[in-house]
Amino acid sequence: MNLAIDELTAAPEAEGSCSLEHYLAMPDHSMDGRIAEARAKLGATTILLGHHYQRDEVVRFADYTGDSYKLSKIAAGTDARYIVFCGVHFMAESADILAKASQQVILPDLNAGCSMADMAEISQVEECWDTLARAGLDGETIPLTYINSTAAIKAFCGERGGLVCTSSNTGAAFRWAFARGKRILFLPDQHLGRNTGYAMGIPLEEMQVWDPWAIQGGQSKEKLAASRVLLWKGHCSVHQRFLPSHVDQVRAKYPGIRVIVHPECRFEVCQKADALGSTERLIALVQQAPAGAMFAIGTEIHLVNRLAKRFAAEGKRIITLDDTGCLCTTMYRISPQHLAWALENLIEGRVVNRIAVSAEVKHWARVALDRMLEVA
Ligand code: SF4
Repeated sequence: MNLAIDELTAAPEAEGSCSLEHYLAMPDHSMDGRIAEARAKLGATTILLGHHYQRDEVVRFADYTGDSYKLSKIAAGTDARYIVFCGVHFMAESADILAKASQQVILPDLNAGCSMADMAEISQVEECWDTLARAGLDGETIPLTYINSTAAIKAFCGERGGLVCTSSNTGAAFRWAFARGKRILFLPDQHLGRNTGYAMGIPLEEMQVWDPWAIQGGQSKEKLAASRVLLWKGHCSVHQRFLPSHVDQVRAKYPGIRVIVHPECRFEVCQKADALGSTERLIALVQQAPAGAMFAIGTEIHLVNRLAKRFAAEGKRIITLDDTGCLCTTMYRISPQHLAWALENLIEGRVVNRIAVSAEVKHWARVALDRMLEVA
């Protein structure tokens, strides 16, 4: 996990807390009554957020479900003292950045990270920026980060005149940046950056990949200077599993099927798909379709399965684009046992697994998040 000690204070197990091992030894279903009882006891003091990709045994207890930005905004708008985020680490950080001073954010399992966010470490990004500065290119480069990034990366962008975007406004964020500079450094997902740039008419050869493990990012000075978008070499291990052959296979098997995918999928998959969209957009596309429509969706399997159940009653059929099942294994770490443990500790007045972003990082990350509103 990409956790900088100075940016984060997390108490894995507060003194006097009930042992987590005790919970983990019990079966999932035995937690249901305990979670429901704890929620009732905690009442309005606690809000429980469930990301779209969260497992069913946990998400059914959520007060709100959605993507990370939407959930963080909702929580900040409530008077709840505790925000329990059933998602991954960067999401809990985002919630803390936007939260009121009176609110505390809890991530039930600190091991719930995000492989994509972890692919851009702040020291690597600073090194990239230094290289651009030595080449005289930093002044004309605007750093943008996808919200799926650590608080430190968000702060980095905020401090250097850039912003945070979500998968639903990346195109608008690109236009905002090109009004202010010649080039974008896009972090940390190369696929979202490439798909967005290409959709805006930027040729692939004008988008170079910055490899943090190669000398000078694997790029010559000339290529850096000629680039319009520098794509950080990061990806989502879930969405990258979808392949162009999956699109061909579902089309051959189900003539007329619509293939819709998340823009974190690789370029070749997105090019073959009928539509791309953020999680919320994918849901809307299914919602707006007439009865009898059939979709193959390229995104995390828990969301696809839930949509399949929800829309079956309307006569819509939904399958996953890859039937080997693309699961976000880190988010899956938030188990009913972890949730019951976190909630029952709160009842006893103990805050476990608090995610607290340091004041300076929070300031600049907030600047970058607030700039997103200019884009909207
Ligand atoms: S689905 Fe991908 S980007 Fe989203 S939390 Fe999981 S690993 Fe990270």
